[in-house]
Amino acid sequence: MKEIILKGIPAAPGIATGRAYLVDSEEFIIPKRKIKEKDIEKEVLRFNSSLAQTRRELLVIKNKISKEMGSEHGEIFSAHLLVIEDPILINEVVSRIKNELLGVEFVFLEVMTKYIRALSSTNDDYLKERVSDINDVGKRVLRNLLGTQKDTLENIKDKVVVIAYDLSPSETAMMHRGNVIAFATDIGGRTSHTAIMAKSLEIPACVGLEGVTSKVKNGDLIIVDGGHGKVIINPTEKTIKKYKVDKKRFTAFEKDLTALKTLPCETLDKRKIILSANIELQEDVSSVLAHGADGIGLYRTEYFYMNRKDLPTEEEHFMAYKSVAEKVYPKHVILRTLDLGGDKFVSNLAIPREMNPFMGWRAIRFCLARPDIFKAQLRAILRASVPKNLKIMYPMISGIGELRKANAILEEVKKELRKKSVKFDEDIEVGAMIEVPSAALTSDVLANEVDFFSIGTNDLIQYALAVDRVNEKIAYLYEPAHPGVLRLIKTVIDNGHAKNIWVGMCGEMAGDPLMTMILLGLGLDEFSTSPVNMFEIKRLIRAVSYKDARTLADKALRLSTSIEIEKLASHKLKEIAPDIAMNL
Ligand code: PEP
Ligand code: MG
Repeated sequence: MKEIILKGIPAAPGIATGRAYLVDSEEFIIPKRKIKEKDIEKEVLRFNSSLAQTRRELLVIKNKISKEMGSEHGEIFSAHLLVIEDPILINEVVSRIKNELLGVEFVFLEVMTKYIRALSSTNDDYLKERVSDINDVGKRVLRNLLGTQKDTLENIKDKVVVIAYDLSPSETAMMHRGNVIAFATDIGGRTSHTAIMAKSLEIPACVGLEGVTSKVKNGDLIIVDGGHGKVIINPTEKTIKKYKVDKKRFTAFEKDLTALKTLPCETLDKRKIILSANIELQEDVSSVLAHGADGIGLYRTEYFYMNRKDLPTEEEHFMAYKSVAEKVYPKHVILRTLDLGGDKFVSNLAIPREMNPFMGWRAIRFCLARPDIFKAQLRAILRASVPKNLKIMYPMISGIGELRKANAILEEVKKELRKKSVKFDEDIEVGAMIEVPSAALTSDVLANEVDFFSIGTNDLIQYALAVDRVNEKIAYLYEPAHPGVLRLIKTVIDNGHAKNIWVGMCGEMAGDPLMTMILLGLGLDEFSTSPVNMFEIKRLIRAVSYKDARTLADKALRLSTSIEIEKLASHKLKEIAPDIAMNL
């Protein structure tokens, strides 16, 4: 077997070697099965019962969605029901089974594929939109025919390297209880939530490895070098040895860094920096503590809504937030309110698929439109805030109007709680994420009405540079060091400081050692990163003076391309921490 080396985008650091497990992308592979004349009736019966089963499933979903979200949303499933009730489709499948003596799965798949092809090639937009309905329903019927459910990543039995075309953030989240030791995907970007989740699971991962699923076979030996975005398929003995040595070196490097855990995060000239952790799941708290974080700078609460059939109740929210707050006490926890949409979907809310999901009905926009959902979360946060170590943060604020609306809802909730004599932290701090360029540019105005800012560079970069953060094809344009991005960051920090509020950063840029000294020099007060990046960032902050960092940032601001800025940063990094520079 020939060794194949693929280079993609680094998603989460570390090296893992294991057998490949190709995740079913639901491109069903169904052989052409001949049947006997006497089996026709049985096949038709199987077809009818799978349609009936699918119908039952769709009705349950339709009723549930109509009840929770209103009947207009439930109607999406009426379109699905029409597909399985279509007499032309049903007759075609049945007559082909009879005439061609073929198994029902094969015939059904062929008929569906024919329909999908025909609809995809029409010029009628309405009919084109029906393609995804037919696809969804078709898969449901096939699943019922085959009697299988899609493998879930939490019940894989052996230690494996998952290879997939794509993994959604919620699928990746399922791995935390599973046996997945690394993963690699065909598509995706460095700041996709799938990549971010891999970091929080602390497993090596690469994304954007075009064609990895077509080159790997189930059971192939695979090395994933997540830090360098490399995957090696069927490595030679020599390569295996090399990676064993690299892994040992990386483990030793990480072990050395753990000595930093209890040391203060401050520059050589004693400027104190808050070093916080980003978490996705409650389970991540142990890693936060193990890395000696000053607190949790971003709790992405939306994962709480994923991988379940219903919405979390206020009580469930409350228990979860209370437990996280207690575990890290007296350190702080910044709870970001629900940030759905973009690349994070929640099936039970049936949010319609949009052309531009990252610019669509998401995050605070969704919450303001659904105050019932928003208020339940706010009530739970407030109730859990009694020990006084919680803060609230709104995602995707694009201007003062949205901020005021969110704050007004928060005030309403507080009033309701006071009326019922329910205790909460009356001084709870409220912050805004600055991740939309318009918010950065009007941060002087926003700063009047919040207690802190946290810069969300993952989105800020994609919006400022018009580069989709999950698209591997334009990943080369996703430039954190772009002069336009640095100017926006400087604007936010300066505006925040002018109004005496602190300014943090919770986007992936805060965990990128190449950018640490420039961000420090721009005056950032808090760095919030995945725990896996935390020691490196602390090492760098402790190795430089604020004065030098300011000089570096000033120089960077005078440069005109990201290449020049990266060169400047890389030169400084090599000077103060060559071992960290080597791992980049
Ligand atoms: C960001 O946009 O930088 C951020 C931290 O939020 P998320 O990655 O969840 O969109
Ligand atoms: Mg964001």
